[in-house]
Amino acid sequence: MSGWYGLLPPPKAPEVLRGRQKADWLIIGAGFAGLAAARRLSQLVPGDRIVVVDAQRVGWGAAGRNSGFMIDLPHELAGENYGGSQNHDRKRIRMNRAAIEFSAAAADEYGLQAFFVRAGKFHGAASDHGLGVLREFETHLTGLGEPFERLDGPQLKEITGSDFFIGGTFTPGTVMAQPAGFIRGVAEGLSSRVQLFENSPVISMRTGKLHTVKTAEGEITAPQLILTVNGHLESFGFFKKRLLHVFTYASMTRPLSKSEQAALGGEPHWGLISADPMGSTIRHTGDRIVVRNTFTYNPDMSTSEKQIKRIGAVHDQSFRARFPMLGDMPMEFRWGGHLCLSLNSAAAFGEVEDRVFVAGCCNGLGTVQGTLYGMLAADIAAGSDEPMVGDALNQPAPSRLYPEPLMSIGAPLKLWAMQRRAGKEL
Ligand SMILES: Cc1cc2nc3c(=O)[nH]c(=O)nc-3n(C[C@H](O)[C@H](O)[C@H](O)COP(=O)(O)OP(=O)(O)OC[C@H]3O[C@@H](n4cnc5c(N)ncnc54)[C@H](O)[C@@H]3O)c2cc1C
Repeated sequence: MSGWYGLLPPPKAPEVLRGRQKADWLIIGAGFAGLAAARRLSQLVPGDRIVVVDAQRVGWGAAGRNSGFMIDLPHELAGENYGGSQNHDRKRIRMNRAAIEFSAAAADEYGLQAFFVRAGKFHGAASDHGLGVLREFETHLTGLGEPFERLDGPQLKEITGSDFFIGGTFTPGTVMAQPAGFIRGVAEGLSSRVQLFENSPVISMRTGKLHTVKTAEGEITAPQLILTVNGHLESFGFFKKRLLHVFTYASMTRPLSKSEQAALGGEPHWGLISADPMGSTIRHTGDRIVVRNTFTYNPDMSTSEKQIKRIGAVHDQSFRARFPMLGDMPMEFRWGGHLCLSLNSAAAFGEVEDRVFVAGCCNGLGTVQGTLYGMLAADIAAGSDEPMVGDALNQPAPSRLYPEPLMSIGAPLKLWAMQRRAGKEL
């Protein structure tokens, strides 16, 4: 269980799909993309029957496992300094901000302000390599005309309590979410307009004039289908040999005592991303600290307790390096989660068969880009004149992976080399 999910009260009993059902719109997957599609459809075609089906409880999957950085700026995980070309990045920022505003409207409407805070994000460097990466990032931001603030080590210590960082950069546009709380809140907020079935994995799908999907206990038909199952698009037969299945991992401490908080110092709420895209992400949630790092290649789309435990030891090391004043702090939660990446960092988006739309594979940035593509999938499906649809459709599709055995040898090696390059930033 992720810490974010574990901190929420237990959810109400789920409604499971049973028997034969009909819908006007069927969405498979209730993460950021699926719920954005559902919310957008509820605005575009009010009165139509919109049904969302998920294999698990809302918030149990990657949507409730992530670090909660809803980032407006370019954030290219596969690159060396997060940036891409200026034209591409300007468009990306405009689209990311539209998705953040779409989420902000949901947060306002459903009273989710506690789970959705416009706090900005820090980047922290612990080495000269990291500082160099941040300087490149700042140059890129200057070129884009985007505001940022440069911080030195002591300024970062005032915020984080840690003297691990020798410099940093603050950018103001990121929203910090409690991801499981936010996503569950959106699902509950939509419940008067959208019917949600949970714990109902789709086990077969037949497309046609009416699309039919089956679960263990039920079946549902609909003329319009939106698939928002992230990397599981491949399990539905789409984008085969184009999606890279990677896991990343996090650990969350137990609550810090008053004396531990005093020993730590700094501010109670902040989120910091490493200068190096492969370094550690750290959040202070008010009374707990969350560490996220390490990527593994898992083409079978699953991880194991053993892998989570092994990477937990890396988290402990990263934690001790940053917060020696907190000693051997026990971690109350440790978890892993599935990321879908593509070699060219492109998302899977568009109409893949007649009236079958997809939005997924958001390259580790799905809180914002999943929202964006989910919302735009609803726009194309409903034939709206949203201008961003054209931009989204003009983007490249995920490129082909290298043939085997190049992937199974090359992908872990590449991840290893990138993480090694991160050095102290891990
Ligand atoms: C530890 C970690 C940290 C991360 N940090 C960040 C971050 O700070 N910022 C950020 O933007 N992103 C982050 N991410 C990535 C982010 O979580 C994902 O990109 C995002 O959740 C993708 O949203 P989605 O809606 O496309 O897919 P998902 O959230 O994966 O939702 C897909 C849903 O489809 C359902 N599904 C799959 N198959 C079936 C089926 N057969 N039948 C029914 N339902 C099915 C799943 O149960 C799931 O609920 C992080 C991820 C992890 C694991």
